[in-house]
Amino acid sequence: MKWYRKLHWQIILGMILGLVYGIAAAQFQWTGFATNWVVPFGDIFMNLLKLIAVPLVLTSLVAGVASLSDFKKLSRMGSKTIGLYIATTAVAVTIGLLVVNTLQPGAKLAELDDTQEELKADYKSKAESKEETAKIIDERGPLQPLIDMVPDNFFGSASSNSNMLQLVFVSLLIGIALVQVSDEHRKPVLSLFEGMQAVVIKLVNIIMLMAPIGVFALITKTITTLAVGEGGEANLGQIGTVLGALSYYCIAVIIGLLLHTTIVYLGLLKLFTPLKISQFFKAIAPAQLLAFSTSSSGATLPVTMRQCKEKLGASKETTSFVLPLGATINMDGTALYQAVAAVFIAQAYSIPLDLGAQITIILTAVMASIGTAAVPGAGIIMLVIILEAINVPTAGIALILGVDRILDMLRTATNVTGDAAVCAIIAHSEKQLHPPSE
Ligand code: ASP
Repeated sequence: MKWYRKLHWQIILGMILGLVYGIAAAQFQWTGFATNWVVPFGDIFMNLLKLIAVPLVLTSLVAGVASLSDFKKLSRMGSKTIGLYIATTAVAVTIGLLVVNTLQPGAKLAELDDTQEELKADYKSKAESKEETAKIIDERGPLQPLIDMVPDNFFGSASSNSNMLQLVFVSLLIGIALVQVSDEHRKPVLSLFEGMQAVVIKLVNIIMLMAPIGVFALITKTITTLAVGEGGEANLGQIGTVLGALSYYCIAVIIGLLLHTTIVYLGLLKLFTPLKISQFFKAIAPAQLLAFSTSSSGATLPVTMRQCKEKLGASKETTSFVLPLGATINMDGTALYQAVAAVFIAQAYSIPLDLGAQITIILTAVMASIGTAAVPGAGIIMLVIILEAINVPTAGIALILGVDRILDMLRTATNVTGDAAVCAIIAHSEKQLHPPSE
């Protein structure tokens, strides 16, 4: 296949063209045309992606849990898998915090007078409404988050993308019940869910065909919004400083992801499996590349499963339970990114974060990454939960939206690497890892 036919190159091209066109539109006053005729394609692309989040989580998780036929094994493998997923995610967030607090990528933005004034004014009004929210939260009981996780109506929980944790809970419950009914009942329901999962994944592939145009439009939108100040005046000088700070922020995320991959995954694989590092990476490289170019661990799931089964030698039983669960709840890259982004925004607003706030970030980022759907751009939406918890204005998300796509590609590749690493470890612990000889 020619290089320009490959999706990830087309997406990168879309980003570059969006950047160039956005700057030109701001400079030559074409923003009216861009807003009316270009930006809507970005919105359509985002809507399509959000549209598939609910069916993707529901089908992959039910099918994944229900494919394990023995309940005892399900609980043993379930606790091992979930424990490892949560532990690696907490470590990822901690690495993210260490990197962002050391590099301070948001400090430059705090020096920018205009941005600072705008952010501060916004912060004041936000802070007032936050106080009210905080009051409401204070009045809630300690077990309220647990109650919130359990929906009283299935369609209610499936009716909004913000109820992902409820949906994960319902899907696990359906999967567990499915394991316990007779084969006669289990098989048709399971194959229905597996069939639906295949359809949803096909849908992801179809939607991703629009990705280059969608990304072009989204980048155009960000650049024109950023570049045009009040009264429609282009403010390209400001873009320079903002882009500089944003690059530094991207570098912080990338360093964090690299550290996590090398220290945590490679360390765990060396300690707990007989796999050689080169063997692991060679086996899962196609999944990593697909994750990079689709920014969706959900869309990558079929390839991750195939590679882990055929090239790493993990059993079907392990891959079909550990990987769909991982694609939904294990997002180390996302959690690390969310921690860096939250602190970066706080730095831009000059809001100091004490130890308590940093611990809050660890807890909420682990929760938020669990609730993040395995689709492009979901991580930045869940960032709201963390920002609210540490009282940083959620409007700050606008700052990092422009570079989110590229970071999404990188964090998704990390997410998928984490799922595959845990899959190999669990498979080996169950004596179900038989790597093919090279
Ligand atoms: N795109 C990521 C994934 O699918 C989620 C995120 O937005 O961080 O793994």
